[in-house]
Amino acid sequence: MRTAGVRLIDAINDTIVAVSSASGHGIRGIVRLSGPDAIAIAARLFVADGETCLSRQPGFRRISGMVWLDTTRRLPAEVYLFRASRSYTRQDCAEIHTIGSPAVLAMVVDGARSAGARLAQPGEFTARAFLGGAMDLFQAEAVAATIAARSDRQLRAARKLQEGDLSRRITEWRARLMEVTALIEADIDFADEPIEFITPGALRSQLSGLAQQIEALRAGADAAERFDVLPTALLIGRPNAGKSSLMNALSGLDRAICSAVSGTTRDIVSAPIKLGTTEAMLLDAAGVHEDADALMREAQARVLSAAEHVDLLCLVIDVAAPPDMSAFDCLRSTPTTPCVLVANKIDLLDEETRDHRQTILTQAAPANVMSVCAVSATEGTGLDHLRDALAGQLGHRDDLAEEKSVVLSARQRGCLASASQALDRAIAEAEQIGETVDRAEVLALELREALDALGELIGAVTTEDLLSTIFASFCIGK
Ligand code: GDP
Repeated sequence: MRTAGVRLIDAINDTIVAVSSASGHGIRGIVRLSGPDAIAIAARLFVADGETCLSRQPGFRRISGMVWLDTTRRLPAEVYLFRASRSYTRQDCAEIHTIGSPAVLAMVVDGARSAGARLAQPGEFTARAFLGGAMDLFQAEAVAATIAARSDRQLRAARKLQEGDLSRRITEWRARLMEVTALIEADIDFADEPIEFITPGALRSQLSGLAQQIEALRAGADAAERFDVLPTALLIGRPNAGKSSLMNALSGLDRAICSAVSGTTRDIVSAPIKLGTTEAMLLDAAGVHEDADALMREAQARVLSAAEHVDLLCLVIDVAAPPDMSAFDCLRSTPTTPCVLVANKIDLLDEETRDHRQTILTQAAPANVMSVCAVSATEGTGLDHLRDALAGQLGHRDDLAEEKSVVLSARQRGCLASASQALDRAIAEAEQIGETVDRAEVLALELREALDALGELIGAVTTEDLLSTIFASFCIGK
């Protein structure tokens, strides 16, 4: 929660403190201070080994000693000093590293507060880094995305933003756009003179070149957004084939009600599953079969419509039951969606019957069945092989997406869309430039709007509200 009354933009001249290591117990915990008195406050809490005087130390120093918890107790600690402006926040910073006990760290924070520091708000260290020019808004948001990343893929996407290539590209687009805008504005100012600052041809080619690049980034971000949502695999198959049991076995969660009564699962339930270094969302829905009551038919309709939008189908077949090839009928409406066939309940068969039934299924399977996995959902047999088969189908899609796209937040995509739309309108105006000065003025306005949108994207144009919204999503200490 943001502390009422403290505005990020105004409040950068006091000294803030927070625990910046992960919450809970750890071998080492970190209390971080940033601001003009950071080093002086650290010096009051800390006794360095030997005669070292903390306040007189240059930056980039690690000093061993003891930290005071209260007037009588102290613990071994190290202090890292980073002097302005070569620190994360571009201000004087001190980090006190000591034993990672929440109680100990809370006492160190209290000590710092008594010595004059203010408890930091969520994201305030990174907000200072942004306001101090250490990073642009893109990179600051990437810090939040790195902290929030749930998978290797999300971590790589966040790193891509943090590296700053994209910021540099957008800064360069802004500079080009600013130049064109200045030339148009000069044309307006000197409308009565026979001077042409930019030819209509050069104007159009500059603007459409930029529009194409912005649009390409936007399309990539839109694609990434679709991929940022975890890839989906839908379990389908007759009631009692073992879909819910498989869902629970793969996810480790008891999301679906497993029951021997046919048709228990009537709604779509979902759970994330880990597939090696990637993740997917596994969906389970009502079994597909013909003699269904109205509620069941409704549920089946949902399954069929969901099946059209998922990345992978997982057709579960009870191999302990006599072979029945009509089980494949449910794949008829989705002939191009890849499918992994799961031959379940192998624990109920001897090896010979199991192999025989698996061969029959493999031969009869339609073309979109990419692999057949023999498993027992209840005993856990064959699940690693099944995970590999699912990752083989879904991981590939991840890689493709990752190469081409960059994951942007809704705010960032909104700014890009505004820039792109303003530029399109400017291009439409540019088609008619030269007819009247009014046209040039409208064109200049559209260009300014595109510039503002790009500026907002990287944080060159900001408001307190925007910053508060962005940094409020951070945790305290970051
Ligand atoms: P769903 O209708 O497809 O979701 O099927 P469920 O997961 O509810 O399973 C139906 C019944 O089959 C339950 O009694 C499960 O315990 C049982 N079952 C599921 N998988 C296996 C398995 O691999 N082996 C055995 N022996 N029984 C299973």
